[in-house]
Amino acid sequence: MSEIHRAAVLHATGIDSIAYYGDGALVVDPDGKIESLGPWHGRSSGGRIHDHRPALLLPGFVDCHFHIPQIDVRGRYGFSLLEWLDRFIYPAERACADPETARDAARRAFQSLMAHGTTTVAAYTSCHVQAAHAAFEEAEAAGIRAVIGNPLMDRETPPDLRAGVDALAACEEIASRWEGKAGRLFYAFTPRFAVSCTPALLAASAEAARRTGCRIMTHLAENEEEVRRVRSLFGGDRSYAAVYDSFGLLGPGTIVAHAIHVTAEDSDLLARAGASVAHCPSSNFFLRSGRMDIGMLDNHGVIIGLGTDVGAGPSFSLWETMRDMLYTNEKTPARAFSTATRGGAGALGLWDRIGDFSAEKEADFCVYDVPPGLTAGSESRPDELIAALIFTEGGAKPREVWIGGRRIL
Ligand SMILES: [Zn+2]
Repeated sequence: MSEIHRAAVLHATGIDSIAYYGDGALVVDPDGKIESLGPWHGRSSGGRIHDHRPALLLPGFVDCHFHIPQIDVRGRYGFSLLEWLDRFIYPAERACADPETARDAARRAFQSLMAHGTTTVAAYTSCHVQAAHAAFEEAEAAGIRAVIGNPLMDRETPPDLRAGVDALAACEEIASRWEGKAGRLFYAFTPRFAVSCTPALLAASAEAARRTGCRIMTHLAENEEEVRRVRSLFGGDRSYAAVYDSFGLLGPGTIVAHAIHVTAEDSDLLARAGASVAHCPSSNFFLRSGRMDIGMLDNHGVIIGLGTDVGAGPSFSLWETMRDMLYTNEKTPARAFSTATRGGAGALGLWDRIGDFSAEKEADFCVYDVPPGLTAGSESRPDELIAALIFTEGGAKPREVWIGGRRIL
C-alpha cells in the first residue's frame, strides 16, 4: 500500500527556485520511491495517511564533504591548514587504526548527521581499510545513504598514515563488497590531495576508479600555501586542477572539495570534465582558507553541492553551512537550499535517485516544525520559511527523518 504524507511540502525545482504546496501530499510507493507530489485536494484515499500538519516536509540534505575521524577534534582554532592537519587531524585519524574507535566514530557521525536533517553523506574515513569497512557497516545499519572513501597518501604525511599504490588492491576489495549495495552505499577512491600523493598514486587511483566504475573524492585548492606546494611538487606551469586532470582524476564521478583558489580556466576544466565541487563555507571561515566564488563556478556550469567539512567545519548542520554560504556569496535562500539538496545530489552523481521529490526518486525527507512567528499554509511564503530555518540558532533540527520511505529517526 502507498503511504501519503500530508504536510506543507517544499522542494527545489531549479538552481534558484522552489516549489511549495501549503497543503501538500507526498505519495510514496511500497518500495520507498516517490509516486507523486501535489496538492492534498482529492487525496483522501488510496493509501495510508501520515498527517504531519502543521509541519513542513523537505527533502533530506546531501552533505558532500565530511571526515568521520574528525568529529571529536572540531574547534581546534587558530592554525593554518597544513599545521592543523599535523597537530590535530592526523593524530585523530591515527586513533582509528583501532577498529572499534573507527566504528564508534562512524556510528556517532551518522546519527548526528541524520539528527540535523542530512540523509546522504560523502564521508572520508581514516586511511585504514578496516575503518572503511566499519563505516560501511555502520551506514548500512543506520539506514543513511553514503559515499565512503578511505584517504590515500604516500608522501608528506606521517609514515604510519601512508597508504599508496600498494593499498589499491584492498580498496578494490572494499569497492567490490560495497559499491551500489542496497542502492544506498557507494565507494570512492580518495587520493587525499595532491600534496600528499605521488604522481604514481594519483594515476593509479584514477585507473582503479575507471576500472571499477566508482567515484573519486579529493581536495582542490583549499589554501594558498597548499597551492604553492602543489606548484613546486608538480612543476609551476600547470594549475592544481590541471594537475588532477593530467592524471585522469577529473570526470563525472569526481567530487573535489573547496576549489577556492582556482581560475576561470580551472572552472572551465572542471565543468567540461563533469567534475563537481563540494563547497564548504563554514570550514573555509574556520581555517581562513579564503572565499569560494560561486558566481565564477556558476558561469562555467560547474555542479556545486554543500559540505559541512566536519571537523574543520564546526557543525553537522547543513542549515548552518547554508547560512555561511549566504554570508560569503550574495545568493538567495532558495539557492542555498537548492545547493544543499539538488546540488548535492548532482555533485555525488545521485541525481537519478535523490535531491528533490520527482516521481520515482527515493523518498528521503525530513519533517520540521515551522519556525516561530510563521505559519505553513497556502498563504505562506516559501522563501521566508527557508530563510527562517537557515537562520535558526544552532541549526534547525527535524523531528522526523525518513530515508527510502522508511522512518529512521
Ligand atoms: Zn576535507
